[in-house]
Amino acid sequence: MRRILPILFHTPVALSFLLFVFVSVLWIRSYHLSDQFSWRSSSGSKAVNSAQGFLTLHLTQAGWPLQPADSLGFQYQRDLSSRPVNYLTCLSADATDIDTNWEKAGFAWYSKRATRGAYSAIGVAPFWSLATFTALLPLAWATRQIRSRLRNSIGLCPTCNYDLRASPTRCPECGAETNTATPSPVSGRGRG
Ligand SMILES: [Zn+2]
Repeated sequence: MRRILPILFHTPVALSFLLFVFVSVLWIRSYHLSDQFSWRSSSGSKAVNSAQGFLTLHLTQAGWPLQPADSLGFQYQRDLSSRPVNYLTCLSADATDIDTNWEKAGFAWYSKRATRGAYSAIGVAPFWSLATFTALLPLAWATRQIRSRLRNSIGLCPTCNYDLRASPTRCPECGAETNTATPSPVSGRGRG
């Protein structure tokens, strides 16, 4: 295990797994606490926050040249949790604003582009979709490992399923090297 861990943590599988754990923790917490990660600059802000089973993304592009320096940069904030809302409808509206309101199966995208150039957008995605997405790679990897070990344990080539009882170290069919240096005890080959 100690030898595997450092290798694992350099692979996309491990990164995906870590992301899955992170997403799951935020998901569970989101029902009572909202975690918010934000980045503010003089040209706008980007923020991601958890909201009762959903992850929401908030984008604002607007000129804020008079922002105090200590309000810029990365910030983390924790708050009481509430459902995601489209607060863009509360912003001052102009007849020439371009609004987008898209909603489907818990996913949503709302945006407002004002004629004077300011742009705001809110994206909503249910946590189950993010947890499923980040679990795909680790699950595929784990399934592959289990199948490979199963094939190995019953004396089949992990790559092509060829019966390796007669040549346990290398597959005569596809040439794959196997790590079954000792013959399996069930084979009973070469005795009597
Ligand atoms: Zn093979």
